Amino acid sequence: MAVRQKALKKRLLAKKEQLEAQIKTTPTVSVTNVGYGNHMADDATFAYEQTKELSLQQNVKGLLAQVDRALQRFDQGTYGVCVSCGQCIDAARLRAIAYAPLCITCARSQSR
Ligand SMILES: [Zn+2]
Repeated sequence: MAVRQKALKKRLLAKKEQLEAQIKTTPTVSVTNVGYGNHMADDATFAYEQTKELSLQQNVKGLLAQVDRALQRFDQGTYGVCVSCGQCIDAARLRAIAYAPLCITCARSQSR
């Protein structure tokens, strides 16, 4: 394994740890209590806050899944190869997003 890839793996592992810590410190949100308050406006705000919290948590979990998959690709020896077209992912892109599963061309065509 190239030295450059080792550094990226280290970064991925650090990111994984950070995300896992974030998930642990985020309070578990229960949506079941919404609608039992006295004021409609308060309920709406409360529900909104919870939705925000939930989507944040989902983002963290989604990110963690991406990092996990990138680490799996390390084990399989396919790290740095686009999962869609099989081309090598640009080194600059991997430095920016170490868990990137797609090359810039595929990422662009998918986000369209
Ligand atoms: Zn690609």
